[in-house]
Amino acid sequence: MTAPGPLDLRLVDAVDRLSRALRIARQDIATKHGLSLLQLQLLEHLAPRHIKRVGELARNFGVTQPTASDALTALEGKGYVERGSDPTDRRATTVTLTATGARLASQISEEFAPIVEAERTTSADERGTALHVVLSEIRRLQNLGIITVDRSCFSCHHFQPPEPGREGHAYCTLLRETLRQQDLRVDCPEHSTLTGSAPR
Ligand code: SF4
Repeated sequence: MTAPGPLDLRLVDAVDRLSRALRIARQDIATKHGLSLLQLQLLEHLAPRHIKRVGELARNFGVTQPTASDALTALEGKGYVERGSDPTDRRATTVTLTATGARLASQISEEFAPIVEAERTTSADERGTALHVVLSEIRRLQNLGIITVDRSCFSCHHFQPPEPGREGHAYCTLLRETLRQQDLRVDCPEHSTLTGSAPR
């Protein structure tokens, strides 16, 4: 019998495999709609947030600003997004979904849902624990400078770690809500970056 290999490596391997599968599924949906993968991801990302700066979008997807700009030009040409100037910074360009873009983003979300919501054998608590572990890894890689953008609870100024008085749950001081492991957010619109690298 061969040794299973170090746990950390198997964890990375499992997340990597999941990530590749989801990428293929997203690519299929993108191709169906005549989009590149980046164009589809931009639509998905803009859907709940409405307005974003081009530089912010580039950082979020780990691409250069010209690459993000090219993808946005293609989306603009198809009538899915529109660009404007940022009233708080004239040098910055903002991006918004058009009504057509919002409809397409919603359709993409519906097409992706069966993959995310397919029948599972794990409980919500177990998936919450998995989410906690993955977010801890993201925070660790962010502290190492490998991940540059993280808008999850563990890197947020409003996050308070679990305490016995809250039945061992964490707390969001902005939303004033208890956060169970399964409530942790991965990409929160209210996120406020925490300075320092304290483990959460
Ligand atoms: S603001 Fe969002 S990211 Fe920050 S702790 Fe609250 S829920 Fe988490």
